[in-house]
Amino acid sequence: MALATMEEARQILADRFGYDRFRPGQEALVEAVLAGRDVLGVMPTGAGKSLCYQVPGVAARGLALVVSPLVSLMGDQVRSLLEAGVRGAYLNSTLTPGQQGTVMRRALEGAYDVMYVAPERLADPRFLDFAGRADIALVAVDEAHCVSQWGQDFRPSYLAVGEFIASLPARPPVCALTATATGRVRADITRLLGLRDPFVLVTGFDRPNLRFDVERLDPKRKIARIAARALARPAESGIVYCSTRKDVEKVHEALVEAGVPATRYHAGLAKGERAANQRAFIDDDAPVMVATNAFGMGIDKSNVRYVVHHNLPGSMEAYYQEAGRAGRDGEPAECLLLWSDGDISTCRFFIEQESGNEELTPEEGEVVRATRRRMLEAMVGYCYTVECLRGYILRYFGEEAPGACGNCGTCEGGVEAVDVTAEARAVMRCVHELRGRFGKGVVADVLRGHASDRVEELGLTAAACFGDLGEGAPAGPAGTPLPSAVPAARIREVVELLAAGGYLVVTEGTYPTVQLGPRFREAAEPGFSLAMKSVPRKATRARGAAVAGSRAFGAAGGAASGDEGLFECLRALRKDIATKLGKPPYVVFSDAALRDMCARRPATDEEFLEVSGVGLTKLKRYGEDFMAAIRDYEAG
Ligand code: ADP
Ligand code: ZN
Repeated sequence: MALATMEEARQILADRFGYDRFRPGQEALVEAVLAGRDVLGVMPTGAGKSLCYQVPGVAARGLALVVSPLVSLMGDQVRSLLEAGVRGAYLNSTLTPGQQGTVMRRALEGAYDVMYVAPERLADPRFLDFAGRADIALVAVDEAHCVSQWGQDFRPSYLAVGEFIASLPARPPVCALTATATGRVRADITRLLGLRDPFVLVTGFDRPNLRFDVERLDPKRKIARIAARALARPAESGIVYCSTRKDVEKVHEALVEAGVPATRYHAGLAKGERAANQRAFIDDDAPVMVATNAFGMGIDKSNVRYVVHHNLPGSMEAYYQEAGRAGRDGEPAECLLLWSDGDISTCRFFIEQESGNEELTPEEGEVVRATRRRMLEAMVGYCYTVECLRGYILRYFGEEAPGACGNCGTCEGGVEAVDVTAEARAVMRCVHELRGRFGKGVVADVLRGHASDRVEELGLTAAACFGDLGEGAPAGPAGTPLPSAVPAARIREVVELLAAGGYLVVTEGTYPTVQLGPRFREAAEPGFSLAMKSVPRKATRARGAAVAGSRAFGAAGGAASGDEGLFECLRALRKDIATKLGKPPYVVFSDAALRDMCARRPATDEEFLEVSGVGLTKLKRYGEDFMAAIRDYEAG
């Protein structure tokens, strides 16, 4: 029996949530849920997963139960629902037992459409008793990958979800949602949640509103770069990810000193401070958050306009998830990755160190390390690629990529490629001859013909490849002699690039090595060629010029529309109202809604309802104030 019709669902989407159409992925998922099917939706952050269960939750007679690991955010999620006129509630450890009892009693009376619960609740006898009696129309499992030990956010408490669902007297359809799922994690989700012949939908990973940039920067210059971005438009919200707590502290302090209203978040801070800082960020009191990757899962702040990575993440999966927290409202947003050589070494070092403390057999440990090395190499490849950055990302996630996207550093910055095929061949020969026993430093010295103490000691001056990239060696174009030795830094870069392509494997730690990779044979084939991004050493200066151009990083966002004045005015009004009501500003209206208001300049209720993100409830609550502000602005 169908829970409700698509027509009802569309009506709810318009009246409550203020959107005139479902996005393609949502449409298919909602339809399947309403038909009573289990579904598994894999959609990137910002695709709009919440509506996939919220709309059916409202449409169905009965309660939609949403399992979510994000206890600290349930309050916000429910507030957003109430704001849209949806009857929401949550149940977690932040409520007293008395309050929990009240919520459950009211739920039994049918007071709610959507109820969020923490997975820990599912083991609570009181809750199980409640669930056995409640009219549960749908169970949604948010961040469903948490159930898999193969994912990066495994939560043991999620293992109880499958059993809970199976224990319900009338099994409702189950809607599992996640932003990251490899085939293996997907299989785990289906098996461990006990999904029955689920309708699986994986939407495209492309986020056209995100602009991607990569900059290689000296560690010392990274902070100045970040501060410049933040100060370019100080009211905008941004996240700066650092790989260590120490870096968070350092970057945060420097930003505050530079006048950036920043706050910070990492696992070393007291719980209360973490919560307060998160609040300040969500409320736009401190629009810039400096954090480790401990921050962000489930933060559904839709108006994050940029995400900067101060360090290289360990994988493309991690990068895309973190960067994807920008621009969830669909408005232009920017993702900038800053990196330096040291970042790569640090990541490698962690890989070799880390896997020791897991309960794994030595063989399993090696499998884990090999996987992580491969993931890191793909990340390094992103730093070096001379192709469209979006194309690189999409191909990594197994999607076809169109040619040039026109909205990334490569497509717009005119990246210069240098051919390093000769150097690459020499490196491959050298690694082969040295049988993978030594690190990058030795490889570079041997190739340059530099008889360092270490090279002498190892007797490598006698190696056949000694001096192959040294002064006078015939490694120039068409065998011309090299005017001077290839710089050691260039050789190291070529090693990284080869590793990123799978031709080599680089390890770091007590005994760093460069070894042949799985694709090493291909590098010896006649058609092999390798190009590298020529990275100007004076990168910041070159950037300075580029920033003057309208679309470079830091300059995106409706600047051309001529509505900036009005936008700022509406943004200020939103903040006022939010503060008065004690709500996060984006809950009142998203940036996208404000932009649409600027474009439409509604003067009547009907026109106001046309604005994307405005439903009947919001019209009633805020329409008058915002229309008055627009009138005032237009009157000058
Ligand atoms: P996810 O959970 O997939 O990361 P959210 O559910 O938080 O994404 O939605 C991201 C943003 O997209 C929110 O601001 C939401 O209001 C908006 N959104 C969702 N669905 C639609 C739609 N059909 N039309 C316009 N905006 C939408
Ligand atoms: Zn591009």
